[in-house]
Amino acid sequence: MRVIVAGVPGAGKTSIMREVANRTNHDIVNYGTLMLELAKSRNLTNDRDSIRKLPIEIQKELQKEAARKIGEMDDVIVDTHLTIKTPAGYFPGLPEWVLKEINPNLIVVVEAVPHEIMRRRRLDNTRKRDFETQGDIKEHLDANKYAAFACSILTGAPVMILTNRDGMLEQAVERFMEAFK
Ligand code: AMP
Ligand code: MG
Repeated sequence: MRVIVAGVPGAGKTSIMREVANRTNHDIVNYGTLMLELAKSRNLTNDRDSIRKLPIEIQKELQKEAARKIGEMDDVIVDTHLTIKTPAGYFPGLPEWVLKEINPNLIVVVEAVPHEIMRRRRLDNTRKRDFETQGDIKEHLDANKYAAFACSILTGAPVMILTNRDGMLEQAVERFMEAFK
């Protein structure tokens, strides 16, 4: 299977992937990590939360190269984003050329309610999350959902909306694993 897992920062993609890792034989690839390695090798930035502040044309180049690498992999779960909030606006994480490389069978959108996402971002000192109001987060969640269905139409891959409420990680992981049955 080729699975895309996406969601706003703080939705809990990476936490879910950590749990999924020991239950699957799929490779789990973090798209941001691939882009960061490429960015580092070009002396663009050392910080994953600065990638979205780079000029859009540079982000596109890194994005394309990362997509090519994923295209070469077999069974894979890709931890990534449907839309990235950049100074220029919502940048698509999965434009057509990226989808063609990844060729997904399933698109999973990880969601939580805005106040929980806000709290998780506040408590996460490992990342430079931008401050957003609940209204901003709601807009981003909506943008992701529209983008997910656009990707679904282009690829024929179904969309799983996966709710990841506080204290319910195990349930989210169980639901995710149903896709592999
Ligand atoms: P993450 O660790 O998932 O938050 O990803 C770190 C950063 O990588 C994001 O803030 C984006 O700048 C970048 N990134 C991840 N996936 C994509 C993608 N599909 N297209 C463009 N940029 C991406
Ligand atoms: Mg993450």
